[in-house]
Parts: sequence; structure tokens; C-alpha cells
Amino acid sequence: MRSVADLLDRPVPERRSGETLRWSRFLASTTAEGPGVRSALWSQGCSVHCPGCFNPHLWAAAGARLDDTAALAERFAAETEAAGAEGVTLLGGEPFDQAEALAVVAEAMAARGLTVMTFSGYTLDALTGWAAERDDIARLLAATDLLVDGPYLRDRPDAIRPWLGSTNQGIRALSPAYADVVARIDADGGRDRVEIRIDRDGRIDVNGWADDAALAILLDDLGVRADAPFRKEKNR
Ligand code: SF4
Repeated sequence: MRSVADLLDRPVPERRSGETLRWSRFLASTTAEGPGVRSALWSQGCSVHCPGCFNPHLWAAAGARLDDTAALAERFAAETEAAGAEGVTLLGGEPFDQAEALAVVAEAMAARGLTVMTFSGYTLDALTGWAAERDDIARLLAATDLLVDGPYLRDRPDAIRPWLGSTNQGIRALSPAYADVVARIDADGGRDRVEIRIDRDGRIDVNGWADDAALAILLDDLGVRADAPFRKEKNR
């Protein structure tokens, strides 16, 4: 199991070609993954491996959807715009493990005037240092308006700030777009949201943030059977 020191001092991720994107899920509209109405893209593959991560099924590259990045970027940007969302949230998996491909997605959003929020298990200090030598990391940072940075440390849960899993993580305005949001969170915290979608076949998709105990009570209140087909992808 990784130590806190090891999690906070990760080596620079290997560079991966951006021609294709490994991804798991795209939602065109959600209010649980950042400020306002946003689309959300879960990339697949994470080399950080935080103990207690809520999305361990997204660590391995195996099983990912693999598609042409440029085509996906246009599709996701068009669907985000059509849904009336103000931007996209990139989560995972670890977006900076596929920095070039996700920079293409982020730049396609920005070209349509849409904002970009990115979750990373790496710290902003590490990303900024690597960006001097790695244009893929520099591009994704440059296209990000709002960054949540740092590994998830399960023994430091954050019950105050929305979207963040642990108190070591930062929420950083990298452009003026969300400076007011960050200032509000720094002053007053905020509220997390969770979304539950149940399709016609009874399959349940959960996104956003709620601890497991609260989520179990909520699903029980909704009359969801314990053995119902289930997918849970939180933002940390
Ligand atoms: S919390 Fe994020 S960075 Fe940490 S292991 Fe999970 S997906 Fe990777």
C-alpha cells in the first residue's frame, strides 16, 4: 500500500500519445461534478493509486473504451454545448496520465467558450514543475480553469468543501472564470451533491459525492434493492 509520502511525491507520469483517448463514461449534463451545469468525462487509467479511492475500477487501462481523440473531443464539446452546460469536468482515472489527449478535449471545449475543471491526484506544484519539460502537461494545465489537486487521503476526509475528498487537496482558480467560486469556498465551504439515475432496466448510475453509509441509506429510502445492477463513480 502506498504511504502518504509516496502519494505526495509521485514521479512524472509516462508520456502517452494523444491520438487516442482511454475513457469510461461521458455525461452531457450534471450538477454534481463542479460549479453550475457541466458535462463530465471519466478518463480511464490512473498510476497514483490512492488507498480508499472511490473509482479503483478506473485504475487499469484494460477494459477502457479507446477512441480517436479528435473525433471524441468534437463530439463531447458539441454535446456539452447542446446540453446548455457551461463547461466540462475531467475526472478519472488520472487526467494527467493522458495529458495530451485530454488537452485536445479541453481545447475543443475552450474553442466553444466552455470552461474546464480538472481533478488530479498530482499536486499543482508537481504539475507546474513537470510542465516546464512536458508540453502535454503544460497544455492541459493551460486549458484548465479550475483544478482540484492532490491525492485522496482517506484519513483526512473533507466535510466542508464541495467536490473535494480530503483536506490536503486544493481547489485552484487557474483562470479568472471561477475565482469567485474559489473565494466563496475558501470563506464558507459549500455543499456536495449526489445524482442517482435509474434507467428503464433498473440499472443505477451514481455520480457526485456522498459517503458510502449516506448513499446506502439514500438508496434504501428510494427502495433500491441491494442486489440491483449498480455503477458508482464519485469525483474522488
Ligand atoms: S482518487 Fe483519483 S488520483 Fe487517487 S487513485 Fe483514485 S482516480 Fe487516481
